[in-house]
Amino acid sequence: MKFDTIIIGGGLSGLISGIYLSQRGQRCVIISSGQSALHFSSGSFDLLNNLPDGTSVQKPLDAISELVKQAPTHPYAKLGETKFKELAQQAEEFFKNAGISTQGNHEENHYRVTPMGTLKPTWLTLKNLLISENEKCLPIQHPGIFNITGFLDFYTRFIADEFLKMGAKCSIHSINFPALENLRKNPTEMRSVNIARVFDKQENIKELARILKAESGNCDSIILPAITGLNREDVVDYLRKEINKPIYLLQTLPPSVPGIHTQQKLRSVFQQNGGVFMLGDNVLCADIKENRISQIYSFNHGDIPFVGQNFILATGSYFSQGLIASTEKIYEPIFDLDVTFTPNRTQWYNSDVFDTQPYQSFGIKTDSTFRCTREGKIFENLYAAGAILEGFNPLKEGCGAGVSILSAMYIAEQILSK
Ligand SMILES: Cc1cc2nc3c(=O)[nH]c(=O)nc-3n(C[C@H](O)[C@H](O)[C@H](O)COP(=O)(O)OP(=O)(O)OC[C@H]3O[C@@H](n4cnc5c(N)ncnc54)[C@H](O)[C@@H]3O)c2cc1C
Repeated sequence: MKFDTIIIGGGLSGLISGIYLSQRGQRCVIISSGQSALHFSSGSFDLLNNLPDGTSVQKPLDAISELVKQAPTHPYAKLGETKFKELAQQAEEFFKNAGISTQGNHEENHYRVTPMGTLKPTWLTLKNLLISENEKCLPIQHPGIFNITGFLDFYTRFIADEFLKMGAKCSIHSINFPALENLRKNPTEMRSVNIARVFDKQENIKELARILKAESGNCDSIILPAITGLNREDVVDYLRKEINKPIYLLQTLPPSVPGIHTQQKLRSVFQQNGGVFMLGDNVLCADIKENRISQIYSFNHGDIPFVGQNFILATGSYFSQGLIASTEKIYEPIFDLDVTFTPNRTQWYNSDVFDTQPYQSFGIKTDSTFRCTREGKIFENLYAAGAILEGFNPLKEGCGAGVSILSAMYIAEQILSK
């Protein structure tokens, strides 16, 4: 099988590079073993919330020159200030064109509401999720928080307590009707994705609207867990029209329905542009000729190789098994690429779990254009994008999605300019 570019990994970075390249005429395949971090996403994309030394960042663009000084191997340091700005802007446009509506922009972080009701800075938040422009208060005063009876991954009491600290007095309500009762017969079915499927059906959405209308009399707004439809995203608009009140979604514990919507949409845009998406296949190894990858092999396709001009490794970090930690080393399992890590295992982690964890910043070494190396030699046609890269801490710096999106776009540009 021959392609211009072969992308390994179908998460945020693999999909974005695939769309970018296929929209510009390249024949691309994405081979992906399974779910990605998007299935567990907060529904927000972080660009940069903190510098490596812990200084908080409100305006990401203003912080890049200091970031470059503090973390020279950071993926943003490889992009540089001008490219960082250009790609962040382009990414916002990209989402819009892909039919993914977001709130926020790269000029200044806004605040998303966590499943515990606290506020956290971020860059872009998916449409309909509640956000605030202010770190200390919410845009609502007397919301009604509605939960599905028996749904345990949405903590109404915690949320109400946190909202009260920010001056919003909440009332708490339960939603129940026969279609939800059926789900409750088996408690393991009461997960976000299964409930969301119930709200794919118009009759159930109508019943939801009826209950919200009847119960929300004293509320200035309505808050629902983000479970309103797995295969449709028009439910909130419908409810707003029916009830004539502001309605916001609030993220639940994973799996993330808004994250799954994003994954589905990106995949469909990739396929509409002629991309081939192979889900459930695992890339195992490669043939290497001098400093180039000539072809790769996967579990499902056995000795039938995937032949390509360029390859993008977007297999994520430990979570997706793009990186593997053994007792002695941290390694990349497909190409055995150079990985940054300290040899002494006791230095991989910090015993205070809330402190910065060094293993979070380990990853694939690349040159300034994100080309990978093995034993110090650069592969001319193998690039790494996203969570697998070295030099950044997505949790402490709040830059996970930003690194995945911007590195993917930058690599796609490099490949097109060859
Ligand atoms: C649980 C979790 C939640 C997160 N939530 C957020 C958030 O809300 N906001 C934010 O800004 N950042 C978040 N992040 C940071 C996250 O890393 C990025 O946002 C981003 O989604 C990572 O995308 P990626 O494509 O680099 O990797 P991933 O999403 O990890 O995707 C890697 C893909 O590669 C596939 N793969 C791995 N090995 C192989 C192989 N050998 N062959 C074929 N396919 C393979 C995997 O199946 C997977 O689909 C989160 C990270 C995690 C782990």
